[in-house]
Amino acid sequence: MIEILIVEDEKAIANLISKNLTAEGYHCTAAYDGKQGADYIENNNYDLVLLDIMLPEIDGYELLEYIRPMGTPVIFITARGSLQDRIQGLRIGADDYIVKPFQIGELIARVEAILRRTGKANQLLAVDDVEIHLDSRIVLKNKQNIELTMKEFDLLVELVRNKNVALYRERLYERVWGEPFTGETRTLDSHIQRLRRKLGWDDKIKTVFRIGYRLEV
Ligand code: CA
Repeated sequence: MIEILIVEDEKAIANLISKNLTAEGYHCTAAYDGKQGADYIENNNYDLVLLDIMLPEIDGYELLEYIRPMGTPVIFITARGSLQDRIQGLRIGADDYIVKPFQIGELIARVEAILRRTGKANQLLAVDDVEIHLDSRIVLKNKQNIELTMKEFDLLVELVRNKNVALYRERLYERVWGEPFTGETRTLDSHIQRLRRKLGWDDKIKTVFRIGYRLEV
């Protein structure tokens, strides 16, 4: 389980981040001031710290000085979006910088990018009773192995990574087959049919009229 610490004094923001990252399969802890953040960092190992700059007790710059020797990656999350602040944040060793207000999807993408870079990307995706092991390419439903072809597996991962988003057939095809979409939809459609059948996901993988498919979770 990947452990993420969120240090953010605006509780609503901390909780929003925590809720969304938890839904992505990360384990999150929130600290609401710099002192609590320092205590957590001292007593636990985190894979990533999301760090607000303007914090009571100890500010984010000071906390970063404290975290940096441990080598834990840090993403600054802050309302201070001036170029100078960005430069200072990156210069003193933050791995990335995100400015409030931000789209939660952007935050998740940046978290994933940092974790991939540090070799700690989540190797397990889960939707209800289905587990997808990215490293071994094993899919389990109710702990039972489900045999998928290579393309079925890639298609499933694409749907799960974009759950609740309507995906265009073109995009799905190009992502999974790695070649331009010619307008021939039978290949994609038949793979979707087989995924639905093998996973019992007739009601979960929705056909979106004139667009493509959406995994509804
Ligand atoms: Ca703050």
